[in-house]
Amino acid sequence: MDLAKLTPKQLLEIDACTRCGECLRTCPVFSQKTEEGINPRGKIQAMKKFIRGQYGLWARIFGKKSLSQSELEKFSEMVYRCTLCGECSMQCPVSIDSRSLWIAIKETLVDLGHYPKNLGMMKKNVLSKYNISGDHNNLRTSWLEGLENLPAHRYQKEHATVVYFVGCVSGYFPMAYKVPQSVVRILERSGIDFTLLGGEEWCCGFPLIGAGFKKDIEDLIRHNVEGVKQKGAESVIFSCPSCYHTWHEEYHTDLNLFHSTQFILDLIQKRKIRFREEKVRVTYHDPCDLGRQSGIFEAPREILRSMPGVEFVELASHEKESKCCGGGGLLEMVDPELSISLAREKIKEIQATGAEIVVSACQQCTRTIQSTARRMKVHLKTAYITELVLKHME
Ligand code: SF4
Ligand code: SF4
Repeated sequence: MDLAKLTPKQLLEIDACTRCGECLRTCPVFSQKTEEGINPRGKIQAMKKFIRGQYGLWARIFGKKSLSQSELEKFSEMVYRCTLCGECSMQCPVSIDSRSLWIAIKETLVDLGHYPKNLGMMKKNVLSKYNISGDHNNLRTSWLEGLENLPAHRYQKEHATVVYFVGCVSGYFPMAYKVPQSVVRILERSGIDFTLLGGEEWCCGFPLIGAGFKKDIEDLIRHNVEGVKQKGAESVIFSCPSCYHTWHEEYHTDLNLFHSTQFILDLIQKRKIRFREEKVRVTYHDPCDLGRQSGIFEAPREILRSMPGVEFVELASHEKESKCCGGGGLLEMVDPELSISLAREKIKEIQATGAEIVVSACQQCTRTIQSTARRMKVHLKTAYITELVLKHME
């Protein structure tokens, strides 16, 4: 096993795990599948065992222990059954950055050829078609067809000061079309000079990172940054928290990056967006990549609080402690049943608030919660935050 994908800090973290089990209390996957090997502690201990067998004292004296393919296969099954929600690191007394660790371990497993094969298909789609669905990349803007009175430029101008980066899920999953539809309408009505990249928008690279293929994202980064620069834009807005987080962490650009909630809150504060009063009780689900990973907790809450008539109630788990909806970390592709069982728990939590609408700031969370509610035959209204903003605008 080549340990090149693990940083010295991560090797120390693996060694530092005290097996205290604090992370077990919060891992949403472990709450559904109580196998030791699937929880954060179990995964770290398995990795430690592999490393000792290959590089420990025993290996130095008697030679490297050969890796058991069945053990590696089982280990891979456990590592990929994770939403990358990052909740495990919140409770860890030795501050293990476990989300980054899981990604580095996946990269190691990819090198060994032990990863879910459908993720290999997703990689092929992203690298050949530039989106996760494998459809033609010009179909990214199919959601525009649902809008009336489109301007002649169809929001794809040659130059603009702001680029709205839509993301693959909103571009290709009809259930999420309302996300970009509401964002462009808000920007238009607020007088923002913006454009889409259309067929020139490529996947941000997040699905590849989450699957352990990080080394393949360089072309995507270069192409997307060049696309924005060619528009003469200074800022990029994202409705997808994972796109936002990936640009923030991996793109190393001088462009101003905003999640839609930050940009819209600024428009509200500048009084470019005004609301009429409409009474409704809502709750808010923190997306993992927006909240825990990017530290954006207040912007969506301030938007909701600024809307007259909106009664905002917190979920039992919120902000840093928010429970993942089950839609993260590609879990839906690896183990859809497990993803659904996490979403069921989230729905119970939402129902306990008595809210009429659950709002989120992630198209994937909204889609996961909505589709699971339908399966459960539960009446639950979900909305991406800009849908609510647009509906309540004067
Ligand atoms: S990132 Fe989330 S799902 Fe994965 S091990 Fe940690 S708590 Fe569990
Ligand atoms: S909380 Fe941290 S130290 Fe404790 S078992 Fe989990 S990963 Fe190891």
